[in-house]
Formats: sequence, C-alpha cells, structure tokens
Amino acid sequence: MSSDLPGEPYADDADDADDADANVPLSPEEREDIVVDLEDLEVYRTLLEPTGIKGIVIDCPDCETIHHIGWALMQSNLRQLLDEGITGLHEPPYDPDPAEYVTWEYARGYADGVVASESAID
Ligand SMILES: [Zn+2]
Repeated sequence: MSSDLPGEPYADDADDADDADANVPLSPEEREDIVVDLEDLEVYRTLLEPTGIKGIVIDCPDCETIHHIGWALMQSNLRQLLDEGITGLHEPPYDPDPAEYVTWEYARGYADGVVASESAID
C-alpha cells in the first residue's frame, strides 16, 4: 500500500474547505467510470501483457504529449484517482519503446476480438 505519502494535509480534517482545490471529490458517475476502466484495464493487461505489450499510450490533452504508461502504473493511477481524486499520470516513464505500448482503443478492439473469436469457437 502507498501509505507513505509525506504529510497528508487533510488527514486531520477531511471537511476543511481549503482542500477543495487540491482534492476535488469525484461524482458517483466519475467513480463508476474509473471502476469500469480498472476492470477493462485488468482484462487488457491479461490479454496483451503475454504478447509483449507493456502498457497504454495516452495522448495527454494537458501536456499535449504522448505518455507511455505501464500496466502497473496505469492501474495505480486509476486507484489513486478513486482514493484521492488525483492522479500521477504525468510521471515521465523511463525511455519507453513505443512499439511496446498500445492505445486504449487498440486494447479495447483487441479484447473485443478475442471475446468474439472465443464465442465463435463455442
Ligand atoms: Zn500529461
């Protein structure tokens, strides 16, 4: 667990209005989306990791940069988003090989294809 965060300023008083900016609560819909994303991500990782794919490519609207995010980091980012309403998505990866990362859309299409072929066999 990541309970080693330095000095959590809102640990003593969760209702402190000063934290509103840094710790915006997620709406139930946003939380639902993230939970679904986490479940999808687990499926994608299970399917794609054995083929040598190491993570997801995100075309980040904030930095206008392509981010290469490993499976584990992506999952911890989403969990962090659920738990704390923030994400460490912008952490720079160490020298990623673009060939080893796929877009979310590719992963979804791949998973759909696998599911389709499995039900076709049946
Ligand atoms: Zn970014």
